[in-house]
Amino acid sequence: MDKINVPEMFGTLVFNDKVMKARLSDEIYASLKKTIDENVRLDDAVADAVAEEMKNWAIENGATHFTHWFQPLTGVTAEKHDSFITPATDGGVMMEFSGKELIKGEPDASSFPSGGLRATFEARGYTAWDPTSFAFIKDHTLCIPTAFCSYSGDALDKKTPLLRSMQAINRQALRVLKLFGNEDVKCVRTSVGAEQEYFLVDADIWSRRPDLKYTGRTLFGAMPPKGQEMDDHYFGVIKPRVSEFMEDLNEELWKLGILAKTEHNEVAPAQHELAPIYSTTNVATDSNQLTMEIMKKVADRHGLKCLLHEKPFAGVNGSGKHNNWSVTTDTGVNLLSPGKTPYENAQFLLFLCAVIQAVDDYQDLLRLSVATASNDLRLGGDEAPPAIISVFLGEELSAILEAIKNDAPYQGTEEVKLKLGVHSLPRFFRDTTDRNRTSPFAFTGNKFEFRSLGSSNSIACCNIMLNAAVAESLRQYADELEGAEDFETALHELIKRVIKEHERILFDGNGYSEEWVQEAAKRGLSNLKTTADAMPHLLDEKNVEMLIRHKVFSKTEVQSRCEIMLENYVKTVNIEGLTMVDMVRKNYLPAIERYLYRLSQTTVLMRQVSPSVKCKYEVSTMERLSELTDEIMDAVIALEKNLAEFKTIDDIFKSSAFVRDTLIPSMDKLRKYVDEAEMLTSQRDWPFPSYGQLLFSVN
Ligand code: ADP
Ligand code: MG
Repeated sequence: MDKINVPEMFGTLVFNDKVMKARLSDEIYASLKKTIDENVRLDDAVADAVAEEMKNWAIENGATHFTHWFQPLTGVTAEKHDSFITPATDGGVMMEFSGKELIKGEPDASSFPSGGLRATFEARGYTAWDPTSFAFIKDHTLCIPTAFCSYSGDALDKKTPLLRSMQAINRQALRVLKLFGNEDVKCVRTSVGAEQEYFLVDADIWSRRPDLKYTGRTLFGAMPPKGQEMDDHYFGVIKPRVSEFMEDLNEELWKLGILAKTEHNEVAPAQHELAPIYSTTNVATDSNQLTMEIMKKVADRHGLKCLLHEKPFAGVNGSGKHNNWSVTTDTGVNLLSPGKTPYENAQFLLFLCAVIQAVDDYQDLLRLSVATASNDLRLGGDEAPPAIISVFLGEELSAILEAIKNDAPYQGTEEVKLKLGVHSLPRFFRDTTDRNRTSPFAFTGNKFEFRSLGSSNSIACCNIMLNAAVAESLRQYADELEGAEDFETALHELIKRVIKEHERILFDGNGYSEEWVQEAAKRGLSNLKTTADAMPHLLDEKNVEMLIRHKVFSKTEVQSRCEIMLENYVKTVNIEGLTMVDMVRKNYLPAIERYLYRLSQTTVLMRQVSPSVKCKYEVSTMERLSELTDEIMDAVIALEKNLAEFKTIDDIFKSSAFVRDTLIPSMDKLRKYVDEAEMLTSQRDWPFPSYGQLLFSVN
């Protein structure tokens, strides 16, 4: 392979700051920069100038088309390609792209889910340029990151509320920072680094599994003799085919300015992880969407299939995504990093409290922000955090909060009662070795890591909720402290009170254990096990109120989103159910029958030759398989009946409850019998590749 020059290649397909600076006039650059950094409205002349240079740059780099790239509520990204080509008067063509085309697009919105929004308001939506996320080139197309709204201003995408939530936390954090005398801070941003897990399987074998093709996961499959129990895959040697894929993927991502940093094997066979270097939340969101897309594309090129489903294989660890989140000022201060001076420390503790309170007050919002049919299969197993949301702080920080709460001396480096704003916190070290992997929301030294996300989730959803909830804590604190007579005393009392009121959300123990489920129930923490349980809480009054107060969602947007997410849930499971019926009737039952025929033929023939033979294997296998075909038949008929009933329910809350209570259990039952039959049937007759063949297909 040719030697690659990473610095030279990095970001070559991105219209980034360096390119803008080099290509735009000083005046235009300064004005665009102001828009990016301070959210100032862009004027038309500037937009025209930017568009012209963007087009020239894109054409020089091989682009012929442009598209507004956006994130509809379905989870994938969407784009509608337009050509730069405009007919010229001399019969030839010109390559044109105006500021208007850059700023606003009008995709045919009718096929994107709107949860009744467009029907009631406007028939069409429009896309609006997000200048804070750089444009890039993909497949000879200039992609312009945009937000997607209806003409009445309702958000039809994930980016719009994300940007609003970033503004909300910015507004409230600035108020709080002023109280600490930070007059120079102009803007506060949240940063995210999203670690991405995925599976790689051989494309040929994949193509022989209709369930993987239609639903992204296997709906049947008995466990192979060797699973992940040896743990030899984790951080093991990366196989040559996989490492070629990773090299190629890195290159593609680097060209797009995405800093993919580490890649290693995960716990399950065929499972891997990619971690980027963190960036501003909306940029990180775009990057993660792009990463998922490029992963699939590059895998195809290597004769592989990249599975982003949360639980492609039952009984094998699923895939998640870790949302590493921090809050930073434009002056470069990470507000979740303990400081050196007493004042910085008090400020840190207040922001820490804001997060703790936010997670406690809005557990349900965080839970539902990661709720999908596929992630339900993963949460609460011995591989992913439970559906219960709690916060892990680590021993030292917990001890510090405990000391503050009780006005007790802290047994740290020096024995003093901590008076905030007066004393330094004892130095505590970032513990990078012994982290609690079972916690859904862990403090990791200078950031929080939310681990409940599924591998296919957009990170926008949880960051919208997280930003909004933390903005709400900060708003309350600012309201209280702005009016305080003595800031330091008020601050100290506030922090003490927050710790007392919200300590129930703190948990450092084993999140996977049954004791925790009981303990959490005693503490009154919510345990929303499925999407059908979680999603309706989006409409809880306290949640709607908070989201509206911070202008993250309007009432109608919240309602439509709840509906869309539940629709996604029921549609996903419905397709799975239909696929199961199809596979059972067309393939599994006929395959078992074929094998039964062979067994019975063999028995008859053998007895003809020698009447005394026992035919133990043939007879016992036949008997059990025959019982199983009866069970399978009953189960498939029951599932068909349930699928038919499902179609008649037109209320989304009722149908999602039906999916949870009836459809999923009847699918599980069918699967159980088929998986048992797999173990008894000859591999030659079994119609689909086995788990073993899938999981160990790549070398
Ligand atoms: P580890 O998982 O071993 O802690 P790192 O701390 O290096 O590894 O980072 C894990 C992920 O967190 C990476 O994607 C990284 O970019 C991201 N990250 C690191 N620091 C921050 C931060 N301050 N804010 C947001 N994300 C961060
Ligand atoms: Mg991690």
